[in-house]
Amino acid sequence: PSIRFVSTIGDHMKSMHPDIEIPKAHMVEFVMKDFGNWHDKIAIECAVTQKKYTFEELRKNSINLGKALRKVFQLKKDDVVGLLLFNNPDYPICAFATILSGLTVTMINSTYTADVLPMFVVLSLSETKDDDVIPNGAINYDDLLHMKTDLPDVVAVDDEQVICLPYSSGTTGLPKGVMLTNRNLVANLAQHDIPAIQYAVKASNNHQEVLALVLPMYHIYGFTVSTLSLLKVGCKLITIPKFKRNTYLEVLARHKPTILHIVPPLVTFITTHPGVKTEYFQRLKITLCAAAPLGAPDEDKFRAVVAKPTKIIQAYGMTETSPMAFITPHALEGKCSGTFGHPVSNTLIKVVDPDDPTLRHLGPHQPGEILIKGPQVMKGYYKNSTETESAFVNGWYRTGDVAKYDENEMFFITDRIKELIKVKGFQVAPFELEAIIKNFPGVLESAVIGIPHEYLGESPRAYVVQKPGEKVNTEELIQFVRSKVAKHKNLVGGVVIVDRIPKNPSGKILRRQLRSLY
Ligand code: AMP
Repeated sequence: PSIRFVSTIGDHMKSMHPDIEIPKAHMVEFVMKDFGNWHDKIAIECAVTQKKYTFEELRKNSINLGKALRKVFQLKKDDVVGLLLFNNPDYPICAFATILSGLTVTMINSTYTADVLPMFVVLSLSETKDDDVIPNGAINYDDLLHMKTDLPDVVAVDDEQVICLPYSSGTTGLPKGVMLTNRNLVANLAQHDIPAIQYAVKASNNHQEVLALVLPMYHIYGFTVSTLSLLKVGCKLITIPKFKRNTYLEVLARHKPTILHIVPPLVTFITTHPGVKTEYFQRLKITLCAAAPLGAPDEDKFRAVVAKPTKIIQAYGMTETSPMAFITPHALEGKCSGTFGHPVSNTLIKVVDPDDPTLRHLGPHQPGEILIKGPQVMKGYYKNSTETESAFVNGWYRTGDVAKYDENEMFFITDRIKELIKVKGFQVAPFELEAIIKNFPGVLESAVIGIPHEYLGESPRAYVVQKPGEKVNTEELIQFVRSKVAKHKNLVGGVVIVDRIPKNPSGKILRRQLRSLY
């Protein structure tokens, strides 16, 4: 490429993009700032039921629900409202209502069942038709939307207040609440709204972008990047409750989206499924792929299948960075396949040898762990100072991902040193599976790693040591785990019986050794 960006300074790299001033604003008001300009356009529509809201309805309902939450449940600052919902037009209303009320929203994986939820769901806000029976103890959602109260529309939040609490296992252990502040989210929305990287044109009289929203809104990618940032510019979101091949194809055929937000398995789906027709992409302008590695050949294959002049660009981020940390600038699209781009504005990066205590920043083409500083980096893990402390070194957030950059400062993922497994872009914490496997008859100990999988990206595989004189039935163990976890956590990579689990002297599992064994 002819464009050369050089932004490395001293012992770290600074984003080549100009610094932006982070607006001082309530996150929801920031998202809704321009809603008045396209108030009667459809903001969000369910692909299955066709239930829809205009931008004005979305705004009004969010405010009304927020007031009702405060009045009926007497909720106040630091209370956390959990959303256990599939993608649907009411999702942003529930999230906005919570945040407008000065409360914290946490998004729960909607495939979780009562078995795995570490809490009691004490209240269900059910949307009911006249002849439906309202479940015992539940409150009618529509009644809340239409409740009259004289409370103020918005409860002010300060910049450092935690407004969003998604869960991530980070580099080690069990999932933890990631404290994202008002400033974190406002910053991240502003960071990916600069001309060099923005992926949507604002709505106007004769223009409106359309997104097929299949990534779950409970994941930070679906929440910030797809929902908040696109509602902010007046895009129409077509919500798909659950990925089903036919539903997705129907949405592509019927709505001809102008934007796709996807993960690598969806790239495979689009490039290989016989039901996918080129005409579905007539209006498509940009496809964003993130959450897991996408190699250059797959990226190029997508370009070949989808009508020109569609762009496909990759971004990299994580729950702990709100999530966007890197994205490919438009100028490099198609010229640098396989890259996830360059850091977004106001972001500092270090690439270091994880074993080097001096944290010396490595030069181009040398793989190292990515460390990040920026206004989008989380405040810490919720009620977990030990994990918060070990997530940072000298103020830098340790990603646990290994990458290298080229002479244009475009980044390429090369490895992952954290325990995390990513199945279809979803997190699987090995520790959670190991804790379940321990309870199966005959198991002395186990270690779970991710192994490559053609469609899922990775799949969890368990290495198991048997108790002396006992045998583990591996098929039954796979079923046992299946009965206890959400689908993406199943042991699709199988179970392997071994004599011992490699560990360091302090007893930490050496997952790298297991991976190289594989
Ligand atoms: P999550 O918090 O669920 O978004 O997971 C974050 C992790 O997903 C990162 O630490 C990476 O391991 C992985 N990830 C996200 N984006 C990319 C990408 N573009 N390429 C490779 N891995 C990625």
